[in-house]
Amino acid sequence: MTAVQAIFDAAAARLSRIGGPRVSFEFFPPKSEKLEESLWAAIRRLEQLHPSFVSVTYGAGGSTRDRTHRTVARIIEETTLKPAAHLTCVAASKGEVDDVLRAYWDAGVRHIVALRGDPPDGAGGRYEPHPQGYAYAADLVAGARAIAPFEVSVAAYADRHPDSPTWDAEIDNLKRKIDAGATRAVSNFFVDAESFLRLRDRVANAGIEAPVVPGLMPVSNFNGFKKMAAVGGVSVPEWFADIFEGLDNDPDTRLLVAAATTGELCARLAAEGVEDFHFYTLNRAELTIAICRMLGVKARG
Ligand code: FAD
Repeated sequence: MTAVQAIFDAAAARLSRIGGPRVSFEFFPPKSEKLEESLWAAIRRLEQLHPSFVSVTYGAGGSTRDRTHRTVARIIEETTLKPAAHLTCVAASKGEVDDVLRAYWDAGVRHIVALRGDPPDGAGGRYEPHPQGYAYAADLVAGARAIAPFEVSVAAYADRHPDSPTWDAEIDNLKRKIDAGATRAVSNFFVDAESFLRLRDRVANAGIEAPVVPGLMPVSNFNGFKKMAAVGGVSVPEWFADIFEGLDNDPDTRLLVAAATTGELCARLAAEGVEDFHFYTLNRAELTIAICRMLGVKARG
């Protein structure tokens, strides 16, 4: 048996004990009618994988507020999926954010992903809380829970958030978010399974009982991936960069390599007892479907 086979074997053994893993999918609100069509084609295909929930992002500084709302509302009206709406603290007063929360509740949304958000000039810039706003994600969690009994998920970082000076500060912040009422953390993307497993140990050692779900980002464009990794403090090992080097103009091969690398990453995590997987789909279905299949999750009518 090869090393890779052994990992998939161990993953299958762990996952069969719980009847297969739980998966969830993230989408972003589309900018044009054409992109909306391709998003909806992806949603229709991914719906057949019966995810625990699907989430819809919120653009920097609330730039997608209406589009996020429309996408979430349409998911409620036209699918069997349970949507989670992302919401951030950036560039809005508490009153404005509270209005968005009330509108979500009234539209039937029961799950919020509460985030600080990146500075309006983009990730990597200096963050200044809005003078009348929620300052950090923990404050937004408390605000959302004060408005209605939302299920609230928050962000976690396998390679540490760039603004956290130490791991203690990082984990203290996650604990504040859970203590404020969040029941799940979803991690930023990462490359190295060990980074996520170390985060899971740190969380457990801090007495945090809420699950931390790994966020998986299969590479669809390696330059974009590297840029996002650089601003988000995500470490990209040389072996990984080497696998994608030279594939910029070869999307077919890149797709196959992306499925293989993320499939193996998921199997490593499953072999270590991870049971939930969150996929950053980038509004495409095929890679996520392929990787879910490697985890034993297949389309059911
Ligand atoms: P927080 O948990 O508030 O923490 C941010 C940093 O501030 C940490 O370093 C923390 O230690 C520090 N901190 C916290 N409280 C204090 C305090 N009181 N004083 C000083 N420092 C403090 N961004 C979007 O714009 N839209 C999205 O839809 C979106 N979705 C995301 C989904 C996931 C799963 C993830 C992982 C990230 C997402 N992001 C999104 C990105 C996110 O907004 C950024 O990573 C942002 O920089 C931090 O958000 P946070 O919620 O983790 O912030």
